Amino acid sequence: MARVFNFSAGPATLPLEVLEQVRDELVDWHGAGMSVMEMSHRGRYFMSVAERAEADLRDLLDVPAHYRVLFLQGGAATQFAAVPLNLLGGQDRADYLDTGHWSQKAIKEGEKYARINVAASARESGYTAIPDRASWRLNADAAYVHYTPNETIHGLEFQQVPSVGDVPLVADMSSNFLSRPVEVSRYGLIYAGAQKNAGPAGVTIVIVRDDLLGRAHPYTPMTLDYVRQAEAGSMLNTPACFNWYVCGLVFQWLKRQGGLGAMAQRNARKAQKLYDFIDASGFYSNAVAPPVRSRMNVPFALAYERLNATFVEQAQAQGLAALKGHRAVGGMRASLYNAMPEAGVDALIAFMREFERTHG
Ligand code: PMP
Repeated sequence: MARVFNFSAGPATLPLEVLEQVRDELVDWHGAGMSVMEMSHRGRYFMSVAERAEADLRDLLDVPAHYRVLFLQGGAATQFAAVPLNLLGGQDRADYLDTGHWSQKAIKEGEKYARINVAASARESGYTAIPDRASWRLNADAAYVHYTPNETIHGLEFQQVPSVGDVPLVADMSSNFLSRPVEVSRYGLIYAGAQKNAGPAGVTIVIVRDDLLGRAHPYTPMTLDYVRQAEAGSMLNTPACFNWYVCGLVFQWLKRQGGLGAMAQRNARKAQKLYDFIDASGFYSNAVAPPVRSRMNVPFALAYERLNATFVEQAQAQGLAALKGHRAVGGMRASLYNAMPEAGVDALIAFMREFERTHG
C-alpha cells in the first residue's frame, strides 16, 4: 500500500486508522448486515451513530448544555447565507472582520441580506497581519460579529478569541475546527465544513447558542432554519448519513489521541518546525506576521517562481501530494491538519532542503 503525505487544504487527509475502520465496517456495520450508506436515517442503527457522534463532539469541545449541535449539509458556503437569515432577527446590520479570501466570501454573500460593516480589514497589510483590536470599528447595535479564525488560503490565524462585547460572535471555523480547545461560551455560533479536520465533505457542523434561535427570517429555507433543524435532530430531511458516521469515527480517533489539548500541542509543534525551516532558509519565504501565522495552512513561496511547477512535480514523485498553492496567492501551501503526522512534516522539510540544494 502506498499512501502519500497529502497536504491538500480540503478535502484533506484523514487518519489512516479511521479509513481502515470504515473499510472494515463498510459492507456489514456492526452485524447490521448492511452498510451505514444503506440504512434508514431514522432507524435505531443510524440513530446510535448520530447520537454517539454528537456526544463525542460535545465532549471534545466541552460544549455547554445551552448550545445546540447540528450536522447540516451545503458546506460552510451555505452558512454564509444561513447565518444572516437566522441571526439578523429583524435588524439589518452586522459587523464582519476581513482577514482574507474566506472572510470576503462570507461578506459578499452576507451583503444579500444585511448591511455589512467591515469593522477591520487586513487588506492594507496585503493580508499578512490582523489589524490591532484598538482600530476595529464595531457597531454596538450589530446583530452579530462574523470572523474567520483561520484563513485557509492566506494562512492567517487568530491565536485568541476576539473580544466584541455583548454582540454575538460568529466564527467560520472550517479550517481550524478541532485543532485546539475552544471556549465555546465565547461564541454565539460556530460553523465548520467537515472536510479539513472533522471528516469527509458533505457535513457542516453548526454549534449555536439557544438564545439566538427563533429569529429566522420568514423566507429562510426550512433546511437552513436552525430551530427547525434542532427540533428535528438535524434530520429535517435525509442527512449526509455516511459522512456523519465518518465524522463520528474521527471524533473517536481524536479522543484516543488525547483530545484537543494534545492535538493543539502536536499542531503547534508541526507548524513551528516548518516555519522555522522556512525562516532560516534564504530560498523559501512566508510573508505572514509570525504572531498570526496559521498552524493549519502554511503558504510559502520559492525564490524563483519559474521553479514552482518543478517543485510540485518532484514533491509528488516523492509522495508529497497537493502542495500547489491556491491560485489567489500562488506559490505553495502545505496544510497540516490533525491527521497529518509529524513524519509528513519531516519528509516535506527534507524534500525542501534537498530541492534548495539542487535548485537554489
Ligand atoms: N470557509 C473556509 C475558512 C474555508 O476554508 C472553506 C473551504 N475551503 C469554506 C469556507 C467553504 O467551505 P465549503 O466548500 O464547505 O462550502
